[in-house]
Amino acid sequence: MNNAILIIDAAYFIAAVLFILGLKRMSSPVTALKGIVWAGAGMLLATLVTFATPEMHNYLLMIVAIAIGGGAAWISGKRVKMTDMPQMVAIYNGMGGGAAAAIAALEFARMFAQGAKLEPLVLTLAALGAFIGAVSFSGSCIAFAKLQGLMNKAFRLPAQNAVNVIMLVLAIALGAAIIVLPQPAAWMLIAFFVASLVLGVIVTTPIGGADMPVVISLFNAFTGLAVGFEGFVLGNPALIIAGIVVGAAGTLLTQLMAKAMNRPISNILFTPITGEAQGGDSGVTGTMKEASALDVAAMMRYAQKVIVVPGYGMAVAQAQHKVWEMAELLEEIGVEVKFAIHPVAGRMPGHMNVLLAEAGVPYDKISDLEEINAEFAQTDVALVIGANDVVNPVARTDKSSPIYGMPILNADQARNVIVIKRGKGAGYSGIENALFYCENTRMYYGSAQQAVGDLVTQIKILSA
Ligand code: NDP
Repeated sequence: MNNAILIIDAAYFIAAVLFILGLKRMSSPVTALKGIVWAGAGMLLATLVTFATPEMHNYLLMIVAIAIGGGAAWISGKRVKMTDMPQMVAIYNGMGGGAAAAIAALEFARMFAQGAKLEPLVLTLAALGAFIGAVSFSGSCIAFAKLQGLMNKAFRLPAQNAVNVIMLVLAIALGAAIIVLPQPAAWMLIAFFVASLVLGVIVTTPIGGADMPVVISLFNAFTGLAVGFEGFVLGNPALIIAGIVVGAAGTLLTQLMAKAMNRPISNILFTPITGEAQGGDSGVTGTMKEASALDVAAMMRYAQKVIVVPGYGMAVAQAQHKVWEMAELLEEIGVEVKFAIHPVAGRMPGHMNVLLAEAGVPYDKISDLEEINAEFAQTDVALVIGANDVVNPVARTDKSSPIYGMPILNADQARNVIVIKRGKGAGYSGIENALFYCENTRMYYGSAQQAVGDLVTQIKILSA
Protein backbone atom coordinates (compact mmCIF):
# COMPACT_ATOMS: atom_id res chain seq x y z
CA MET A 1 0.00 0.00 0.00
CA ASN A 2 2.79 2.40 0.97
CA ASN A 3 4.56 1.66 -2.27
CA ALA A 4 1.37 2.41 -4.17
CA ILE A 5 1.06 5.80 -2.45
CA LEU A 6 4.69 6.53 -3.20
CA ILE A 7 4.16 5.77 -6.89
CA ILE A 8 1.00 7.90 -6.99
CA ASP A 9 2.80 10.85 -5.33
CA ALA A 10 5.74 10.48 -7.72
CA ALA A 11 3.34 10.47 -10.69
CA TYR A 12 1.63 13.64 -9.41
CA PHE A 13 5.05 15.22 -8.99
CA ILE A 14 6.01 14.36 -12.58
CA ALA A 15 2.64 15.71 -13.79
CA ALA A 16 3.30 18.97 -11.92
CA VAL A 17 6.78 19.27 -13.44
CA LEU A 18 5.26 18.70 -16.90
CA PHE A 19 2.69 21.48 -16.25
CA ILE A 20 5.42 23.94 -15.26
CA LEU A 21 7.79 23.05 -18.11
CA GLY A 22 4.84 23.09 -20.54
CA LEU A 23 3.84 26.57 -19.43
CA LYS A 24 7.42 27.77 -19.71
CA ARG A 25 7.54 26.51 -23.31
CA MET A 26 4.26 28.25 -24.12
CA SER A 27 5.96 31.61 -23.58
CA SER A 28 7.46 31.56 -27.09
CA PRO A 29 5.61 30.80 -30.34
CA VAL A 30 8.59 28.66 -31.40
CA THR A 31 8.21 26.22 -28.49
CA ALA A 32 4.49 26.74 -27.73
CA LEU A 33 3.26 23.61 -29.53
CA LYS A 34 5.64 21.41 -27.57
CA GLY A 35 4.58 23.21 -24.39
CA ILE A 36 0.95 22.30 -25.02
CA VAL A 37 1.91 18.66 -25.63
CA TRP A 38 3.95 18.55 -22.40
CA ALA A 39 1.20 20.10 -20.31
CA GLY A 40 -1.33 17.76 -21.94
CA ALA A 41 0.87 14.76 -21.10
CA GLY A 42 0.99 16.00 -17.49
CA MET A 43 -2.81 16.20 -17.42
CA LEU A 44 -3.15 12.71 -18.90
CA LEU A 45 -0.75 11.30 -16.30
CA ALA A 46 -2.59 13.08 -13.44
CA THR A 47 -5.94 11.75 -14.72
CA LEU A 48 -4.71 8.17 -15.10
CA VAL A 49 -3.04 8.09 -11.70
CA THR A 50 -6.24 9.34 -10.05
CA PHE A 51 -7.85 6.02 -11.02
CA ALA A 52 -5.18 4.21 -9.01
CA THR A 53 -5.86 6.19 -5.82
CA PRO A 54 -6.88 3.61 -3.15
CA GLU A 55 -10.09 5.31 -1.90
CA MET A 56 -11.36 5.87 -5.45
CA HIS A 57 -14.68 4.30 -6.50
CA ASN A 58 -17.50 5.02 -8.99
CA TYR A 59 -15.19 4.14 -11.87
CA LEU A 60 -18.06 3.84 -14.34
CA LEU A 61 -19.34 7.36 -13.59
CA MET A 62 -15.82 8.74 -13.94
CA ILE A 63 -15.27 7.05 -17.30
CA VAL A 64 -18.65 8.21 -18.62
CA ALA A 65 -17.92 11.81 -17.47
CA ILE A 66 -14.46 11.75 -19.08
CA ALA A 67 -15.90 10.32 -22.31
CA ILE A 68 -18.59 13.03 -22.49
CA GLY A 69 -16.26 15.90 -21.55
CA GLY A 70 -13.31 14.63 -23.59
CA GLY A 71 -15.52 13.89 -26.61
CA ALA A 72 -17.13 17.35 -26.54
CA ALA A 73 -13.73 19.02 -26.15
CA TRP A 74 -12.21 16.95 -28.97
CA ILE A 75 -15.01 17.77 -31.41
CA SER A 76 -15.22 21.47 -30.51
CA GLY A 77 -11.41 21.78 -30.53
CA LYS A 78 -11.24 20.33 -34.04
CA ARG A 79 -14.06 22.49 -35.36
CA VAL A 80 -13.38 25.86 -33.74
CA LYS A 81 -12.31 28.68 -36.04
CA MET A 82 -9.32 30.77 -34.99
CA THR A 83 -11.56 33.82 -34.64
CA ASP A 84 -13.85 31.92 -32.25
CA MET A 85 -11.03 30.90 -29.91
CA PRO A 86 -11.75 33.58 -27.25
CA GLN A 87 -15.25 32.28 -26.56
CA MET A 88 -13.87 28.75 -26.47
CA VAL A 89 -11.23 29.80 -23.96
CA ALA A 90 -13.94 31.59 -21.94
CA ILE A 91 -16.22 28.55 -21.77
CA TYR A 92 -13.42 26.07 -20.96
CA ASN A 93 -12.22 28.43 -18.31
CA GLY A 94 -15.72 28.61 -16.87
CA MET A 95 -15.89 24.81 -16.77
CA GLY A 96 -12.71 24.77 -14.64
CA GLY A 97 -14.22 27.26 -12.20
CA GLY A 98 -17.49 25.30 -12.14
CA ALA A 99 -15.62 22.05 -11.46
CA ALA A 100 -13.79 23.66 -8.52
CA ALA A 101 -17.08 24.97 -7.12
CA ALA A 102 -18.64 21.52 -7.59
CA ILE A 103 -15.83 19.87 -5.59
CA ALA A 104 -16.51 22.31 -2.75
CA ALA A 105 -20.26 21.69 -2.98
CA LEU A 106 -19.65 17.94 -2.62
CA GLU A 107 -17.37 18.44 0.37
CA PHE A 108 -20.02 20.64 2.01
CA ALA A 109 -22.72 18.07 1.24
CA ARG A 110 -20.57 15.34 2.80
CA MET A 111 -20.09 17.56 5.85
CA PHE A 112 -23.86 17.96 6.22
CA ALA A 113 -24.54 14.27 5.68
CA GLN A 114 -22.00 13.25 8.30
CA GLY A 115 -22.96 16.04 10.71
CA ALA A 116 -19.28 16.74 11.38
CA LYS A 117 -17.56 19.96 10.36
CA LEU A 118 -14.42 19.95 8.21
CA GLU A 119 -11.16 21.25 9.69
CA PRO A 120 -11.40 25.07 9.91
CA LEU A 121 -8.56 25.61 7.42
CA VAL A 122 -9.96 23.07 4.95
CA LEU A 123 -13.44 24.55 5.33
CA THR A 124 -12.13 28.08 4.70
CA LEU A 125 -10.24 27.00 1.59
CA ALA A 126 -13.26 25.05 0.34
CA ALA A 127 -15.49 28.11 0.80
CA LEU A 128 -12.96 30.40 -0.91
CA GLY A 129 -12.59 27.99 -3.84
CA ALA A 130 -16.37 27.62 -4.07
CA PHE A 131 -16.90 31.39 -4.14
CA ILE A 132 -14.17 32.17 -6.68
CA GLY A 133 -14.99 29.11 -8.81
CA ALA A 134 -18.72 29.94 -8.93
CA VAL A 135 -18.06 33.59 -9.86
CA SER A 136 -15.64 32.45 -12.56
CA PHE A 137 -18.12 29.86 -13.88
CA SER A 138 -21.13 32.16 -14.28
CA GLY A 139 -19.00 35.14 -15.37
CA SER A 140 -17.24 33.06 -18.02
CA CYS A 141 -20.59 31.80 -19.34
CA ILE A 142 -21.70 35.42 -19.79
CA ALA A 143 -18.35 36.27 -21.46
CA PHE A 144 -18.89 33.30 -23.80
CA ALA A 145 -22.42 34.48 -24.68
CA LYS A 146 -21.15 37.99 -25.45
CA LEU A 147 -18.21 36.89 -27.55
CA GLN A 148 -20.46 34.46 -29.43
CA GLY A 149 -22.85 37.34 -30.14
CA LEU A 150 -25.65 35.65 -28.15
CA MET A 151 -26.30 38.63 -25.89
CA ASN A 152 -26.06 42.41 -25.71
CA LYS A 153 -22.45 43.39 -25.08
CA ALA A 154 -23.16 45.94 -22.40
CA PHE A 155 -26.25 45.70 -20.20
CA ARG A 156 -26.32 47.71 -16.99
CA LEU A 157 -28.64 47.25 -14.03
CA PRO A 158 -29.94 50.38 -12.32
CA ALA A 159 -27.41 51.26 -9.56
CA GLN A 160 -25.12 48.58 -10.94
CA ASN A 161 -22.17 49.22 -8.63
CA ALA A 162 -24.35 49.21 -5.50
CA VAL A 163 -25.99 45.92 -6.57
CA ASN A 164 -22.52 44.41 -7.19
CA VAL A 165 -21.31 45.43 -3.74
CA ILE A 166 -24.47 44.13 -2.02
CA MET A 167 -24.15 40.76 -3.74
CA LEU A 168 -20.43 40.58 -2.89
CA VAL A 169 -21.10 41.34 0.79
CA LEU A 170 -23.96 38.82 0.86
CA ALA A 171 -21.80 36.04 -0.62
CA ILE A 172 -18.93 36.79 1.80
CA ALA A 173 -21.30 36.94 4.81
CA LEU A 174 -22.89 33.58 3.88
CA GLY A 175 -19.46 32.03 3.30
CA ALA A 176 -18.26 33.32 6.67
CA ALA A 177 -21.40 31.93 8.37
CA ILE A 178 -20.75 28.48 6.87
CA ILE A 179 -17.19 28.56 8.19
CA VAL A 180 -17.92 29.99 11.65
CA LEU A 181 -21.31 28.60 12.72
CA PRO A 182 -21.15 25.21 14.49
CA GLN A 183 -24.11 23.95 12.45
CA PRO A 184 -24.83 26.12 9.42
CA ALA A 185 -28.25 25.59 7.85
CA ALA A 186 -28.56 23.98 4.43
CA TRP A 187 -30.30 27.08 3.03
CA MET A 188 -27.17 29.10 3.82
CA LEU A 189 -25.13 26.83 1.65
CA ILE A 190 -27.58 27.10 -1.24
CA ALA A 191 -27.85 30.88 -0.82
CA PHE A 192 -24.03 31.13 -0.75
CA PHE A 193 -23.71 29.39 -4.11
CA VAL A 194 -26.62 31.34 -5.63
CA ALA A 195 -25.14 34.69 -4.46
CA SER A 196 -21.71 33.77 -5.88
CA LEU A 197 -23.18 32.69 -9.22
CA VAL A 198 -25.33 35.82 -9.45
CA LEU A 199 -22.30 37.97 -8.63
CA GLY A 200 -20.37 36.46 -11.56
CA VAL A 201 -23.30 37.25 -13.88
CA ILE A 202 -23.93 40.83 -12.77
CA VAL A 203 -20.25 41.78 -12.69
CA THR A 204 -19.78 40.58 -16.28
CA THR A 205 -22.98 41.72 -18.01
CA PRO A 206 -22.08 45.45 -18.16
CA ILE A 207 -18.59 44.83 -19.47
CA GLY A 208 -18.42 45.56 -23.15
CA GLY A 209 -16.19 47.84 -25.15
CA ALA A 210 -12.56 46.92 -25.06
CA ASP A 211 -12.46 45.39 -21.57
CA MET A 212 -13.44 41.82 -22.42
CA PRO A 213 -9.87 40.52 -22.86
CA VAL A 214 -8.94 41.70 -19.37
CA VAL A 215 -12.04 40.10 -17.88
CA ILE A 216 -11.36 36.77 -19.61
CA SER A 217 -7.84 36.64 -18.23
CA LEU A 218 -9.12 37.69 -14.78
CA PHE A 219 -11.56 34.76 -14.76
CA ASN A 220 -8.73 32.55 -15.92
CA ALA A 221 -6.75 33.60 -12.83
CA PHE A 222 -9.84 33.05 -10.65
CA THR A 223 -10.30 29.53 -11.99
CA GLY A 224 -6.66 28.71 -11.28
CA LEU A 225 -7.00 29.97 -7.71
CA ALA A 226 -10.24 28.08 -7.13
CA VAL A 227 -8.73 24.85 -8.45
CA GLY A 228 -5.66 25.36 -6.25
CA PHE A 229 -7.84 25.83 -3.13
CA GLU A 230 -9.89 22.73 -3.91
CA GLY A 231 -6.61 20.85 -4.45
CA PHE A 232 -5.81 21.58 -0.79
CA VAL A 233 -9.28 20.40 0.23
CA LEU A 234 -8.82 17.09 -1.61
CA GLY A 235 -5.13 16.82 -0.68
CA ASN A 236 -4.30 16.47 -4.38
CA PRO A 237 -0.85 17.92 -5.20
CA ALA A 238 -1.41 17.91 -8.98
CA LEU A 239 -4.54 20.07 -8.57
CA ILE A 240 -2.73 22.40 -6.18
CA ILE A 241 0.20 22.95 -8.54
CA ALA A 242 -1.91 23.17 -11.70
CA GLY A 243 -4.17 25.67 -9.93
CA ILE A 244 -1.28 27.78 -8.70
CA VAL A 245 0.39 27.78 -12.12
CA VAL A 246 -2.84 28.83 -13.89
CA GLY A 247 -3.68 31.34 -11.14
CA ALA A 248 -0.23 32.97 -11.27
CA ALA A 249 -0.08 33.05 -15.08
CA GLY A 250 -3.63 34.41 -15.27
CA THR A 251 -2.91 37.08 -12.67
CA LEU A 252 0.21 38.24 -14.51
CA LEU A 253 -1.64 38.29 -17.84
CA THR A 254 -4.51 40.25 -16.26
CA GLN A 255 -2.08 42.81 -14.85
CA LEU A 256 -0.26 43.16 -18.18
CA MET A 257 -3.52 43.52 -20.12
CA ALA A 258 -4.96 46.04 -17.64
CA LYS A 259 -1.72 48.03 -17.84
CA ALA A 260 -1.82 47.89 -21.63
CA MET A 261 -5.39 49.15 -21.55
CA ASN A 262 -4.50 51.81 -18.98
CA ARG A 263 -7.40 50.63 -16.79
CA PRO A 264 -7.12 49.46 -13.19
CA ILE A 265 -8.94 46.14 -12.61
CA SER A 266 -11.30 47.75 -10.09
CA ASN A 267 -12.21 50.28 -12.75
CA ILE A 268 -13.02 47.53 -15.24
CA LEU A 269 -15.22 45.64 -12.79
CA PHE A 270 -16.98 48.58 -11.20
CA THR A 271 -17.18 51.31 -13.87
CA PRO A 272 -17.14 49.34 -17.07
CA ILE A 273 -16.76 50.69 -20.58
CA THR A 274 -20.14 50.53 -22.27
CA GLY A 275 -19.81 51.75 -25.85
CA GLU A 276 -23.15 50.55 -27.10
CA ALA A 277 -24.96 51.87 -24.07
CA GLN A 278 -23.77 55.38 -24.91
CA GLY A 279 -24.86 55.32 -28.51
CA GLY A 280 -21.21 55.30 -29.34
CA ASP A 281 -20.72 57.76 -32.21
CA SER A 282 -18.33 59.89 -30.11
CA GLY A 283 -19.40 62.96 -32.13
CA VAL A 284 -17.22 61.99 -35.09
CA THR A 285 -18.08 63.93 -38.27
CA GLY A 286 -16.69 64.41 -41.78
CA THR A 287 -16.44 62.30 -44.90
CA MET A 288 -14.42 59.22 -45.71
CA LYS A 289 -12.24 59.32 -48.82
CA GLU A 290 -11.86 56.19 -50.89
CA ALA A 291 -8.76 54.86 -52.66
CA SER A 292 -8.35 52.16 -55.30
CA ALA A 293 -5.93 49.22 -55.21
CA LEU A 294 -3.72 51.05 -57.71
CA ASP A 295 -3.63 54.25 -55.57
CA VAL A 296 -2.66 52.27 -52.47
CA ALA A 297 -0.10 50.12 -54.29
CA ALA A 298 1.55 53.22 -55.76
CA MET A 299 1.63 54.95 -52.40
CA MET A 300 3.43 51.97 -50.84
CA ARG A 301 5.64 51.19 -53.86
CA TYR A 302 7.19 54.65 -53.63
CA ALA A 303 7.26 54.88 -49.82
CA GLN A 304 10.39 54.54 -47.72
CA LYS A 305 8.64 53.11 -44.70
CA VAL A 306 5.34 51.28 -44.22
CA ILE A 307 3.90 50.14 -40.89
CA VAL A 308 1.23 47.44 -41.08
CA VAL A 309 -1.38 47.49 -38.31
CA PRO A 310 -3.27 44.18 -38.29
CA GLY A 311 -6.56 43.71 -36.46
CA TYR A 312 -9.50 41.38 -36.05
CA GLY A 313 -10.51 41.73 -39.73
CA MET A 314 -7.18 40.28 -40.86
CA ALA A 315 -7.88 37.25 -38.67
CA VAL A 316 -11.44 36.84 -40.01
CA ALA A 317 -10.21 37.06 -43.59
CA GLN A 318 -7.17 34.82 -42.89
CA ALA A 319 -5.15 37.40 -44.81
CA GLN A 320 -1.86 36.98 -42.93
CA HIS A 321 -0.12 35.00 -45.68
CA LYS A 322 -1.04 37.56 -48.36
CA VAL A 323 0.03 40.36 -46.01
CA TRP A 324 3.46 38.80 -45.55
CA GLU A 325 3.76 38.19 -49.31
CA MET A 326 3.05 41.90 -49.85
CA ALA A 327 5.56 42.91 -47.16
CA GLU A 328 8.29 40.73 -48.70
CA LEU A 329 7.58 42.20 -52.12
CA LEU A 330 7.89 45.74 -50.77
CA GLU A 331 11.11 44.88 -48.99
CA GLU A 332 12.59 43.49 -52.19
CA ILE A 333 11.90 46.88 -53.78
CA GLY A 334 13.64 48.61 -50.86
CA VAL A 335 10.67 49.71 -48.73
CA GLU A 336 11.12 49.21 -44.98
CA VAL A 337 8.13 47.30 -43.58
CA LYS A 338 7.26 46.81 -39.92
CA PHE A 339 4.28 45.33 -38.09
CA ALA A 340 2.69 47.10 -35.11
CA ILE A 341 0.71 44.99 -32.65
CA HIS A 342 -1.71 46.40 -30.12
CA PRO A 343 -2.04 44.27 -26.96
CA VAL A 344 -5.79 43.74 -27.47
CA ALA A 345 -5.87 43.55 -31.28
CA GLY A 346 -8.04 40.69 -32.50
CA ARG A 347 -10.06 38.66 -30.06
CA MET A 348 -7.50 37.05 -27.76
CA PRO A 349 -4.18 38.01 -26.19
CA GLY A 350 -1.39 37.41 -28.71
CA HIS A 351 -3.91 36.82 -31.55
CA MET A 352 -1.99 38.87 -34.13
CA ASN A 353 1.42 37.53 -33.04
CA VAL A 354 0.18 33.98 -33.59
CA LEU A 355 -1.22 34.74 -37.05
CA LEU A 356 1.88 36.63 -38.22
CA ALA A 357 4.17 33.91 -36.85
CA GLU A 358 2.08 31.33 -38.72
CA ALA A 359 2.60 33.30 -41.94
CA GLY A 360 6.36 33.34 -41.34
CA VAL A 361 6.84 37.00 -40.38
CA PRO A 362 10.17 37.20 -38.50
CA TYR A 363 9.85 38.34 -34.87
CA ASP A 364 12.22 41.27 -35.35
CA LYS A 365 9.73 42.84 -37.77
CA ILE A 366 6.96 42.78 -35.17
CA SER A 367 6.83 45.54 -32.55
CA ASP A 368 4.63 46.20 -29.54
CA LEU A 369 2.74 49.44 -29.04
CA GLU A 370 5.33 51.14 -26.80
CA GLU A 371 8.21 50.16 -29.09
CA ILE A 372 6.71 51.48 -32.31
CA ASN A 373 4.32 54.29 -31.47
CA ALA A 374 6.93 57.05 -31.84
CA GLU A 375 7.82 55.77 -35.33
CA PHE A 376 4.46 56.48 -36.96
CA ALA A 377 5.29 60.19 -37.27
CA GLN A 378 8.27 59.28 -39.51
CA THR A 379 6.31 56.73 -41.55
CA ASP A 380 5.03 57.27 -45.09
CA VAL A 381 2.15 54.80 -44.95
CA ALA A 382 0.32 53.21 -42.02
CA LEU A 383 -1.59 50.29 -43.54
CA VAL A 384 -4.44 49.36 -41.20
CA ILE A 385 -5.76 45.91 -42.09
CA GLY A 386 -9.05 45.02 -40.41
CA ALA A 387 -8.17 46.96 -37.25
CA ASN A 388 -10.53 49.53 -35.83
CA ASP A 389 -10.73 50.16 -32.05
CA VAL A 390 -6.96 49.86 -31.58
CA VAL A 391 -6.31 52.84 -33.90
CA ASN A 392 -9.23 55.06 -32.88
CA PRO A 393 -7.89 58.51 -31.88
CA VAL A 394 -11.00 59.34 -29.83
CA ALA A 395 -9.40 57.18 -27.14
CA ARG A 396 -6.96 60.09 -26.66
CA THR A 397 -9.30 63.02 -26.99
CA ASP A 398 -12.93 62.28 -26.17
CA LYS A 399 -13.57 61.89 -22.45
CA SER A 400 -17.12 60.69 -23.12
CA SER A 401 -15.89 57.91 -25.38
CA PRO A 402 -16.20 54.37 -24.08
CA ILE A 403 -12.60 53.69 -25.05
CA TYR A 404 -11.22 56.94 -23.58
CA GLY A 405 -7.86 56.32 -21.93
CA MET A 406 -7.02 53.14 -23.84
CA PRO A 407 -3.57 53.54 -25.42
CA ILE A 408 -3.87 53.24 -29.21
CA LEU A 409 -1.44 52.76 -32.05
CA ASN A 410 -0.64 56.24 -33.43
CA ALA A 411 -1.49 55.31 -37.03
CA ASP A 412 -3.12 58.74 -37.50
CA GLN A 413 0.30 60.36 -37.13
CA ALA A 414 1.69 58.68 -40.26
CA ARG A 415 1.92 60.83 -43.43
CA ASN A 416 -0.69 58.63 -45.12
CA VAL A 417 -3.11 56.16 -43.59
CA ILE A 418 -4.78 53.40 -45.59
CA VAL A 419 -7.60 51.45 -43.96
CA ILE A 420 -8.63 48.10 -45.40
CA LYS A 421 -12.09 46.99 -44.29
CA ARG A 422 -15.21 45.74 -45.99
CA GLY A 423 -17.55 48.65 -45.33
CA LYS A 424 -18.80 50.82 -42.50
CA GLY A 425 -18.77 48.09 -39.84
CA ALA A 426 -17.79 49.20 -36.33
CA GLY A 427 -15.14 47.50 -34.22
CA TYR A 428 -15.79 45.41 -31.12
CA SER A 429 -16.58 48.44 -28.96
CA GLY A 430 -19.32 49.46 -31.41
CA ILE A 431 -18.22 53.09 -31.84
CA GLU A 432 -17.34 55.29 -34.82
CA ASN A 433 -13.64 55.71 -35.64
CA ALA A 434 -12.29 59.26 -36.03
CA LEU A 435 -9.26 57.93 -37.93
CA PHE A 436 -11.41 57.06 -40.94
CA TYR A 437 -12.36 60.74 -41.33
CA CYS A 438 -8.85 62.21 -40.99
CA GLU A 439 -7.45 64.34 -43.83
CA ASN A 440 -4.55 61.90 -44.39
CA THR A 441 -6.72 58.73 -44.37
CA ARG A 442 -7.99 56.82 -47.40
CA MET A 443 -10.40 53.90 -47.18
CA TYR A 444 -9.64 50.92 -49.36
CA TYR A 445 -12.75 48.75 -49.18
CA GLY A 446 -12.69 44.99 -49.51
CA SER A 447 -12.25 41.78 -47.57
CA ALA A 448 -8.64 41.77 -46.35
CA GLN A 449 -7.35 38.70 -48.19
CA GLN A 450 -8.75 39.73 -51.56
CA ALA A 451 -7.83 43.40 -51.03
CA VAL A 452 -4.20 42.64 -50.10
CA GLY A 453 -4.00 40.11 -52.96
CA ASP A 454 -4.99 42.90 -55.36
CA LEU A 455 -2.31 45.13 -53.82
CA VAL A 456 0.30 42.42 -54.45
CA THR A 457 -0.76 42.28 -58.12
CA GLN A 458 -0.64 46.05 -58.51
CA ILE A 459 2.75 46.40 -56.77
CA LYS A 460 4.15 43.73 -59.11
CA ILE A 461 2.81 45.61 -62.15
CA LEU A 462 4.29 48.89 -60.88
CA SER A 463 7.66 47.25 -60.26
CA ALA A 464 7.87 45.32 -63.53
P1 NDP B 1 -12.10 45.65 -34.11
O1 NDP B 1 -13.00 44.59 -33.59
O2 NDP B 1 -12.09 46.95 -33.44
O3 NDP B 1 -12.43 45.94 -35.67
C1 NDP B 1 -12.35 44.94 -36.61
C2 NDP B 1 -12.69 45.55 -37.97
O4 NDP B 1 -12.39 44.56 -38.94
C3 NDP B 1 -14.14 45.91 -38.12
O5 NDP B 1 -14.31 47.31 -38.11
C4 NDP B 1 -14.57 45.30 -39.48
O6 NDP B 1 -15.10 46.31 -40.32
C5 NDP B 1 -13.26 44.77 -40.05
N1 NDP B 1 -13.40 43.48 -40.70
C6 NDP B 1 -14.18 42.44 -40.37
N2 NDP B 1 -14.06 41.44 -41.24
C7 NDP B 1 -13.18 41.87 -42.18
C8 NDP B 1 -12.63 41.29 -43.35
N3 NDP B 1 -12.99 40.06 -43.78
N4 NDP B 1 -11.74 42.01 -44.07
C9 NDP B 1 -11.38 43.27 -43.68
N5 NDP B 1 -11.87 43.86 -42.58
C10 NDP B 1 -12.76 43.17 -41.84
O7 NDP B 1 -10.65 45.03 -34.17
P2 NDP B 1 -9.31 45.47 -33.45
O8 NDP B 1 -8.38 44.33 -33.65
O9 NDP B 1 -8.92 46.84 -33.89
O10 NDP B 1 -9.68 45.60 -31.91
C11 NDP B 1 -10.00 44.47 -31.12
C12 NDP B 1 -11.20 44.77 -30.27
O11 NDP B 1 -11.70 43.54 -29.72
C13 NDP B 1 -10.88 45.68 -29.10
O12 NDP B 1 -11.97 46.50 -28.80
C14 NDP B 1 -10.61 44.66 -27.98
O13 NDP B 1 -10.79 45.19 -26.70
C15 NDP B 1 -11.69 43.64 -28.29
N6 NDP B 1 -11.40 42.33 -27.75
C16 NDP B 1 -10.13 41.87 -27.76
C17 NDP B 1 -9.80 40.66 -27.20
C18 NDP B 1 -8.37 40.23 -27.13
O14 NDP B 1 -8.03 39.46 -26.24
N7 NDP B 1 -7.52 40.69 -28.01
C19 NDP B 1 -10.87 39.77 -26.63
C20 NDP B 1 -12.21 40.34 -26.72
C21 NDP B 1 -12.44 41.58 -27.27
P3 NDP B 1 -16.05 45.90 -41.56
O15 NDP B 1 -17.17 45.12 -40.98
O16 NDP B 1 -16.45 47.19 -42.18
O17 NDP B 1 -15.22 45.07 -42.49
